Amino acid sequence: MVVQDVCKRCRQGQVSVLSRKEPFCNDCFSKFVSAKQRKQMMCEPYCQDVFKVLYQDKVRSEAESVEQNAHSKVLVPLSFGSSSVVLLDILNDTLTEQKETQRGKTGFHIDVLVCGRDQDDIVRYREMADRLLSERYASNREKIKFHFLSVESFYKDCGGELDTILVDSADFSSRSIVENGELNREFGVEDLLKQCPDRSSRQDLLTILSSRLIKKFAYQNKHKIILWGHSMTKLADETISLVVKGRGSQIASMLSIDECDPLFDNSFKNLYPLQDVLLSEIDAYCYIKHLDPFMIDYIPQDTLLVEKQRNPELVSAPRSVKNLTLNEIARKYFDDVEADYSNVISTVVRTALKLGEPETPKPERCSICRANVHMDPSEYLQTITVSENHPIETTEESALYDKWNESQFSNQKIENTTLRDSIPQKAVSTSLCYGCLINVNRMKGRKLTWPQHSKSELETILDAFEL
Ligand SMILES: [Zn+2]
Ligand SMILES: [Zn+2]
Repeated sequence: MVVQDVCKRCRQGQVSVLSRKEPFCNDCFSKFVSAKQRKQMMCEPYCQDVFKVLYQDKVRSEAESVEQNAHSKVLVPLSFGSSSVVLLDILNDTLTEQKETQRGKTGFHIDVLVCGRDQDDIVRYREMADRLLSERYASNREKIKFHFLSVESFYKDCGGELDTILVDSADFSSRSIVENGELNREFGVEDLLKQCPDRSSRQDLLTILSSRLIKKFAYQNKHKIILWGHSMTKLADETISLVVKGRGSQIASMLSIDECDPLFDNSFKNLYPLQDVLLSEIDAYCYIKHLDPFMIDYIPQDTLLVEKQRNPELVSAPRSVKNLTLNEIARKYFDDVEADYSNVISTVVRTALKLGEPETPKPERCSICRANVHMDPSEYLQTITVSENHPIETTEESALYDKWNESQFSNQKIENTTLRDSIPQKAVSTSLCYGCLINVNRMKGRKLTWPQHSKSELETILDAFEL
């Protein structure tokens, strides 16, 4: 493609970005991205009430409008990747504009939530948050607060007992046992991850766990909206990964932006303001707005920039496909198609947004991810699996069996013993969705330890600190 000299929109700016076959100058491209985010933020009356500066009108008095502006709090989960940083930066611009045009008033406050695996993570995140606040958000300091949370809060601040969930290797039924004593006090995220067979399963559980923590934080701190940083590309890879992981029926509820979150008393909405923006566009925006120094463990792509920015030496070598998680494989696919076939990505997302949840009267909820269970997955697994051994018939087979018995592999026999032999009477039947059942079935000892869901779990205050 021949690069035109001037921007097609303003007809004077120098072309710096090529996206969706259109040449943009810096200013027009920034407007293009930020307008897409703002359109989603104003998509319907609930969101408009949160973001707009409200004044006295037919439905509210002067005092009520002041009160509503003061209580419009939104939550931004920040990973210091490009999408969440860009989202936050556009929100900051929105606050600045509101102050300029509405005589110093703003319609909303921002709480930023940063989740870290350990103290080292949190120290790094904190330093970067300090820089963001002093270098970019100084003029809106009173409207933006950062909060830091360790993922360990998932077990530490769960307010109650832990369940150990087990899957029977013979019929795939699932039971749970209440843990009391030692394990209850000491079990942590690292222990959970040690039980996982591979990176995919670790990532699956970490995603469930951090999303639960973020939503619990929003519930407890009375946020009206959680603004997730997902780009269109990320939503497409999330959608495809959910299908591959057997979590297809959860796509509709994940993307539901029309309703408030039913798992948290309908107290907030989940919004994906960057759902119309490709990851490569967000990354180009990072460079144009000089946000790239504020990333942690992420180097934005410069594929859309006319003048490349990236130091090729800094770009890490790709992992071999064998070590990729399902999400990473899906991401790699979309990264590859993004340049020439970006419409594939928007088709996946548009289709996903149209999906509805299956209609099941009073479905049970999965005891791990809390998704509705529309069909008993153990029945389905029984129909596609042979779990009994073939009987030994010849002396040769018998000799081979003895040999295996003596070998180190016979350890696996212990894991294969069914639940019925090994668990105490107090285990009760529990519901799992297909995706979680498959996951637990592959874990060490076919078991997983997880907090019980209860009102007290939701009410136990998370130990976050503020900046
Ligand atoms: Zn322009
Ligand atoms: Zn589940």
